[in-house]
Amino acid sequence: MTPGTPIVEFSHVTKIWHEGTPQAFTAIEDVSFSIEDFPGRGEFIGIVGPSGCGKSTLLNLLAGFREFFPPSRGEIRVHGQPICGPGIDRGMVFQKYSSFPHLTVEGNVRFGLRLNRKTLGLTEEEIAASASEWIRKVGLAGHEHKYPHQLSGGQQQRVAIARSLALKPGILLMDEPFSALDEPTRLEMQALLVELWAEVQATVFIVTHSIAEAVYLGDRVWIFSPSPGRIAHEIRGLPLPVPGVPPLEAQRKPEFTAAVEAVSAEFRRIETGGRK
Ligand code: ADP
Repeated sequence: MTPGTPIVEFSHVTKIWHEGTPQAFTAIEDVSFSIEDFPGRGEFIGIVGPSGCGKSTLLNLLAGFREFFPPSRGEIRVHGQPICGPGIDRGMVFQKYSSFPHLTVEGNVRFGLRLNRKTLGLTEEEIAASASEWIRKVGLAGHEHKYPHQLSGGQQQRVAIARSLALKPGILLMDEPFSALDEPTRLEMQALLVELWAEVQATVFIVTHSIAEAVYLGDRVWIFSPSPGRIAHEIRGLPLPVPGVPPLEAQRKPEFTAAVEAVSAEFRRIETGGRK
């Protein structure tokens, strides 16, 4: 990898479902972007847009998941190399609780570490230690032996975050991770994410239907156009959340509400096809 190589690049990426059939449907069209690699920092990209405009498709393509990958056109590169499927360098957190129901919290966090033990060069003791450390970091110490059905929605998302971050991915993909949670829990999870992000310094892509969440978490926000999805508008240079400052406090500041209003106005303009 040469210095300055972007961490993620999409070049003219299009995804057409059922291409060449009467059911052909273009989910995303000609999407190009490049995310710089800031060593020791990472970026936080908030993605919003009308439902069905291809936001999840973009994340799943970048994850390299089989149902989505490869794109119909274009190329996706990570650290300058075309991807050819999933990789340990990309972690994913879904909206729906994605832990294995038959494994405990500990078993779930250890699972990915075990699967990748050779690549990570870990012994069984190191796997156990790393899993315990991540369970503690996401605030689940004392819940190690519970099964997913014994946990609240917020706790289940904490497991999903621990499972992903334990593998130290340079890129974290989050698909509406907090959408199913009540508002106080969502704010708690935002605070947790900010705290962990300061530590792991990954590049995070977060799809959310909450403009406030995208503006709060993102240093860059993309607004997608209605289908076929494209990045219709990009807002850069948003202030990053400060670890230790409660999200509710930060989100009450006038500059925050002004930024949310500006993004909401742009969102509405794009949603209605450019009409004010
Ligand atoms: P968003 O995340 O913005 O709500 P998605 O990326 O989930 O949008 O979906 C974009 C479009 O692609 C939707 O119209 C959806 O129905 C379609 N789509 C998603 N997955 C498939 C699939 N496996 N087969 C056919 N169409 C799909």
